[in-house]
Amino acid sequence: MIVGAGFAGYNCARALSRQAKGAAEIVLLNPLDYFLYVPLLPEVAAAILEPRRVAVSLTGTLPGVRLVLGHAHGIDLDARRVTYTDPEEREGSLTYDRLVLTVGSVNKLLPIPGVTEHAHGFRGMPEALYLRDHMVRQVELAGASDDPAVRAARTTFVVVGAGYTGTEVAAHGVLFTDSLARQNVGLRDGPRPRWLLLDVADRLLPGLDERLSHTADRVLRGRGVDVRTGTSVKEATSEGVLLDDGEFIASRSLIWCVGVRPDPLVEGLGLPTDKGRLCVDAYLTVPGHPEVFACGDAAAVPDLTRPGEVTPMTAQHAQRQGKVAAHNVAASCGRGKPRAYEHRDLGFMVDLGGVQAAANPLHVPLSGPLAGAVTRGYHLMAMPGNRVRVAADWLLDAVLPRQGVHLGLVSPWSVPLDTASPEVARLPRGSDGST
Ligand SMILES: Cc1cc2nc3c(=O)[nH]c(=O)nc-3n(C[C@H](O)[C@H](O)[C@H](O)COP(=O)(O)OP(=O)(O)OC[C@H]3O[C@@H](n4cnc5c(N)ncnc54)[C@H](O)[C@@H]3O)c2cc1C
Repeated sequence: MIVGAGFAGYNCARALSRQAKGAAEIVLLNPLDYFLYVPLLPEVAAAILEPRRVAVSLTGTLPGVRLVLGHAHGIDLDARRVTYTDPEEREGSLTYDRLVLTVGSVNKLLPIPGVTEHAHGFRGMPEALYLRDHMVRQVELAGASDDPAVRAARTTFVVVGAGYTGTEVAAHGVLFTDSLARQNVGLRDGPRPRWLLLDVADRLLPGLDERLSHTADRVLRGRGVDVRTGTSVKEATSEGVLLDDGEFIASRSLIWCVGVRPDPLVEGLGLPTDKGRLCVDAYLTVPGHPEVFACGDAAAVPDLTRPGEVTPMTAQHAQRQGKVAAHNVAASCGRGKPRAYEHRDLGFMVDLGGVQAAANPLHVPLSGPLAGAVTRGYHLMAMPGNRVRVAADWLLDAVLPRQGVHLGLVSPWSVPLDTASPEVARLPRGSDGST
């Protein structure tokens, strides 16, 4: 049984079903019926890709795997039982012989006044859809207002956290809101939408190759993004954001990309953790529980290429760890020998929108259109499905203006920052048809 169908869980399920060829029952428990290709979410928010393009059907691409829709909330390691709530609020439970925990991560919170109430994260589809609509709405409300202060506040967007998520959101966001403003007669004479990207670190993309930081910094500043390093938020209100240097930025948009923390399900297990991630050995097994495996963002996997460290929370590692977990599950059932997880980073790609990207495939630094082409090519190859649809959207975006409409289906209260399940929009109790 695999809990969580993200990069780690999806690849584990696929590798196991190929290896088992029907000799084992493989159950995948996930709240939704799709694998979310998270790295392209900023393109959904910027109206380049339609949301279903980054949602790959689980049943359609994982023959031989039984999908159970549900959100796990309890694991009884002695009884080998997982309890869950299904999308219609019904309780269920499943027993297992082998368990692979791949529940990923959720938005990281910081104890800053007002942030939980006024900021929105960027970890799941509902948040990306909310942000897309929100940007369109703010630009339209600004265009309809006669008050210059309101116009300025509504066209000011603050992104906190300049890791790859925040950097990509700001890079795509500024291009999107510029195109919306150009289409809006009320904003033809200004103001031009303003984007701020803040980080407490001294450079963008902290933790990645400095050459990527320089490229991202140059591209974003060139687009007019106000990049503020060494800066954080002191307080957030409904009217704007107070920075730690005392400046108040009037804005209706605070996008919280300060990072992620492991899914809270892990904490509830009562097993050793490292910064919230479940401790496992190099074979991805939970010590003392040879039948339980964990990997991806939710697990602290020893990084054999950097002794003493754990592997970073990236799709690159999660995907490969999922395959190794599948191999080791099979080995634990008598097929093959267990293998330790070892992978040296192959570089990183940060999509900056337009034709720009900052990339270092195999640690060769690239920028400009070449990096953009390599990044898009990589994403197409890495996606387990929907490739033609994604490529078609990219082609359409190259020749047509962006669609500046908001459907208003995701409201702010349904995408709270503090949630254990950013993958599902919160609904008022009973409004989904449940009793
Ligand atoms: C906007 C953005 C851009 C990114 N870009 C990149 C990039 O370019 N390159 C890169 O390497 N990494 C990138 N990352 C990081 C990467 O997406 C993660 O490291 C990766 O998704 C981790 O994979 P995972 O399988 O551990 O978790 P996830 O992919 O998050 O999957 C977790 C799965 O578990 C499910 N789940 C959660 N809780 C439960 C539960 N209680 N019960 C059942 N199921 C549950 C979730 O619904 C989800 O399907 C990006 C992240 C974000 C947010």
